[in-house]
Amino acid sequence: MTDAKKREAEKQVVELMIKSYCKHTHHEKQLCASCQDLLLYACQRIDCCPFMAVKTFCSSCKVHCYSLEKRSQIRDVMKKSSWRMLFHHPILLLKHGLSSRRRHK
Ligand SMILES: [Zn+2]
Repeated sequence: MTDAKKREAEKQVVELMIKSYCKHTHHEKQLCASCQDLLLYACQRIDCCPFMAVKTFCSSCKVHCYSLEKRSQIRDVMKKSSWRMLFHHPILLLKHGLSSRRRHK
């Protein structure tokens, strides 16, 4: 996968996770302001990440480029929406898992 493609794929996953998190946690039809802010922040981090070529996903990255506040927010999103992703977007999650496994070899 190319660097640009990985960035796009990661943004797609983050967006889906935040949307699902907001829908079920904040009960908003549209992304609420703080979730929108978080998504924008996450996308900026993805764009700026110098480790995109070697790492798998921001949540498993050893370099924590997220600010403390945003990091705890995104962790909460991951925790609450990852099992939902398994039901609604198994292919996406599978692809994600497969690419991380390949990289760990
Ligand atoms: Zn929200």
